[in-house]
Amino acid sequence: RDPSVKKPGWLRQRAPQGERYAELKESLSSLKLNTVCEEAQCPNIGECWNGGGGAGGEGDGIGTATIMLLGDTCTRGCRFCAVATSRNPAPPDPSEPENTAKAIASWGVGYVVLTSVDRDDMPDGGSDHFARTVKALKALKPEILVECLVSDFRGDLTAVLHVANSGLDVFAHNIETVRRLQRIVRDPRAGYEQSMAVLKHAKSVNCMVTKSSIMLGLGESDDEVKETMQDLRNVGVDICTLGQYLQPTPLHLTVKEYVTPEKFNFWREYGESIGFRYVASGPLVRSSYRAGEFFVESMIR
Ligand code: SF4
Ligand code: SF4
Repeated sequence: RDPSVKKPGWLRQRAPQGERYAELKESLSSLKLNTVCEEAQCPNIGECWNGGGGAGGEGDGIGTATIMLLGDTCTRGCRFCAVATSRNPAPPDPSEPENTAKAIASWGVGYVVLTSVDRDDMPDGGSDHFARTVKALKALKPEILVECLVSDFRGDLTAVLHVANSGLDVFAHNIETVRRLQRIVRDPRAGYEQSMAVLKHAKSVNCMVTKSSIMLGLGESDDEVKETMQDLRNVGVDICTLGQYLQPTPLHLTVKEYVTPEKFNFWREYGESIGFRYVASGPLVRSSYRAGEFFVESMIR
């Protein structure tokens, strides 16, 4: 962290609690599921798993969890991300889609986010693995809501459409930052136009709901954030989330600014004013933050 920029109090989080959280945690140990929520020690775990944003994270909304597919080693090296990288990660487990689907179906969350590292080593970027997981899960539990948070598949639009046509409910791909900072923040194989094209193509599938996220605090200006949000709207993105970038280790990009909760509220209102179906915006908001509740709310609006 840049020593001149002090971490403010609003980034401290309470310990997770709540009845449903306790039940899910207990039953998780018997299932071989890799939740990002636990592995990344996400501060939102109480609120997301319980499906509510009350003081202790208690709620009666739809619980959300994020599951990692395709292993834990990425072929890319973004400068904000602490995931391990390698040119040749271990091949994926071919039975992972079916096994993961079974475990999620028996676990008890209502909304699941399937995500992965980038697999540039696989000819289809792992898109078939995602599509098979969605199909298997929907066959076992049709009422579960599924979001896929995917890579740009190096701009391979066939791979994008394969995932978008798999029967999922939400197609998510993160733009991460404003146009000017793409090269500094993301792996050079990623890019602003490429990510916009991915979102545009996913949206071309009938009734598809699309979603993207922006990290703040990396040195972007207000005008650049507005441009990015407007560009996301222009390619039809329905849902936008904004959160504070936090430096995962001293080797990663430093935080340039801790954006205040008031400013995050401003971005939520701005996003709503330009037509997003919903905007989640706050210091600790992550792409999948309370995604189930917000999705259901936005659909009945
Ligand atoms: Fe899990 Fe995402 Fe919620 Fe964090 S924000 S607890 S990773 S679903
Ligand atoms: Fe991390 Fe995703 Fe970048 Fe890989 S592509 S380094 S998982 S942010």
